[in-house]
Amino acid sequence: MGILEGKRILVAGVTMDTSIGFEVARVAQEQGATVVVSNFGRALGITRRIVNRLPEPVPVIELDVTDEEHLAALPEALREHVDGLDGVVHSIAYGNPETLLGGDFLRGPWEDVAQAVQVSAYSLASLTRACLPLMGEQGGAVVGLTFDATVAWPAYDWMGVAKAGLESCARYLARDLGPRGVRVNLVSAGPLKTLAAKAIPGFEQLEATWAERAPLGWDNADRAPTARAVVALLSDLFPATTGEIVHVDGGFHAMGT
Ligand code: NAP
Repeated sequence: MGILEGKRILVAGVTMDTSIGFEVARVAQEQGATVVVSNFGRALGITRRIVNRLPEPVPVIELDVTDEEHLAALPEALREHVDGLDGVVHSIAYGNPETLLGGDFLRGPWEDVAQAVQVSAYSLASLTRACLPLMGEQGGAVVGLTFDATVAWPAYDWMGVAKAGLESCARYLARDLGPRGVRVNLVSAGPLKTLAAKAIPGFEQLEATWAERAPLGWDNADRAPTARAVVALLSDLFPATTGEIVHVDGGFHAMGT
């Protein structure tokens, strides 16, 4: 029996089969979950085709996390497919690569920073709020994806600021939702080859250092270890863990030089 047997999980943020969210959906299905996937706008058609590569069919619903109407309609859209939710995966981020990334930190204009923070950090709260009506008495688990925001990285710039916001947001949600039995945790992944990572100028610099310094080594094409950690946090195997950041980075974060 899988560790998500009988659980109903929303995975928000699947575009390609390289998306971390895709791998989470795959592992979650293997572990017995019923999965619903969401994505937004232009990429929705791609998502609908890509999910056919998952082991089981999944419904795809439209959700732009900056659209209040989408968020308000989310519970109803979900109820068409599941009678409740046990877990929510936030696998969403965006920052304008031309103005916010690449190593010229001081130029970042506020409008673009505001968008990055709204999509990549605030949305953890807005998505969670929208899903709460489906979580019911039994509580549930919310899991998001971060890139270690405790230090300044080459090129990552304002996305790093947005991730710091995400990490803090997760702790406050953990504080307020603990009494309702909802756990909120993040997985801090090492660099993985996905659409979002490709948009980061200079990301290959980081990838090279990672493979050298991580004591366990690091394969930037293998999204499975990250997805498995997300699935473990969604499961009942972590009943007393919330406000936590689990590193899935080959041990990179724990090393000095
Ligand atoms: P990805 O495949 O590009 O996934 C990011 C998703 O966010 C895409 O599906 C994207 O949709 C969606 N998105 C962007 N704006 C949105 C909005 N307004 N509303 C709803 N969805 C929106 O890249 P990924 O690497 O798997 O990223 C997933 C998460 O992992 C992100 O939080 C990322 O920061 C985090 N992470 C990634 C790495 C890495 O090295 N790849 C490392 C650590 C953490 P579109 O494709 O349509 O824009």
